[in-house]
Amino acid sequence: MTVPKITLNNNVQIPQLGMGVFKMQDHKQFIQAFQWAIEIGYRHFDTAAIYGNEKWLGEAIKKAGIKREELFITSKLWPAEFDNPQKAYENSLKRLGLDYLDLYLIHWPAPDYEQAWQAMEQLYQDHAVRAIGVSNFMIKHLEKLQQQAQIMPAVDQVELHPYLQRPKLLAYLQDNDIAVEAWGPLGQGINGVFAEPILQNLAQKYHKSVAQVILRWHLQRHAIIFPKSIHQERLQQNFDIFDFELSTDDMNAISTLDKNQPNGSDPNDDEHLAQTKLRPVIN
Ligand code: NAD
Repeated sequence: MTVPKITLNNNVQIPQLGMGVFKMQDHKQFIQAFQWAIEIGYRHFDTAAIYGNEKWLGEAIKKAGIKREELFITSKLWPAEFDNPQKAYENSLKRLGLDYLDLYLIHWPAPDYEQAWQAMEQLYQDHAVRAIGVSNFMIKHLEKLQQQAQIMPAVDQVELHPYLQRPKLLAYLQDNDIAVEAWGPLGQGINGVFAEPILQNLAQKYHKSVAQVILRWHLQRHAIIFPKSIHQERLQQNFDIFDFELSTDDMNAISTLDKNQPNGSDPNDDEHLAQTKLRPVIN
């Protein structure tokens, strides 16, 4: 099974499903989960300098012996490193043991993201990276960026799940040809999302798990997803979402679950944004 690809605004193609590695903090588990993921068919991996595990991802990639061009690797610029994105990018590459990334994102719209974006544009113009984008940017951040940007982001990676659907942001991204990436696509498995009756009924109807129904809903909303798991069976489950389709009525039923309820930090919270600049990347 080959994962369908989405074409970004610069014609680079990204597999619509990948694996996220946030909070994978045990070395042995990391290497094992990556190996299972590769065997299952995953080729897209999402990390960040702040996750502290780029080195392990690099080690796992080397061990797997897959051709570099078959992989799609994303990492992110942490705000504490906005003063030298070029250096931060080189450090990420070094830790990953790679000579380019497929996608590099500004992790949060912390102060001075406009200058950081200029450096990201330079990396792209220098052909050091295949695509550049942003993460946790709301409409107001994108509008501000648009005023000065020469290149608009290829993607915006934001928290999205049935309890946080962000319809206005998604419409804005679509209108501006920016692909959407959903982080925490399973709502991180918290707040009772797996016990939600509407989702449980749909799981029964389609003979799938609730997780698979949620992931399929994202695919049909054209979001790029990279659910995280360290378990072989769940990695397999999260991959087996291309053999069924939710009806329009069932997509609409899931739309009714929106509570505009984030699990993670709020991109409008200036205090949080300021703090990201004070927390150093330790690797
Ligand atoms: P997620 O929604 O992918 O949830 C992961 C959790 O869901 C797992 O820990 C597990 O408990 C559970 N789970 C996974 N598969 C399951 C299954 N089949 N059945 C039942 N439970 C299952 O949350 P996440 O890891 O936070 O998000 C995914 C990825 O998004 C991260 O690994 C990271 O790459 C990225 N991310 C980005 C940001 C950002 O600020 N840009 C923030 C958080 C995460």
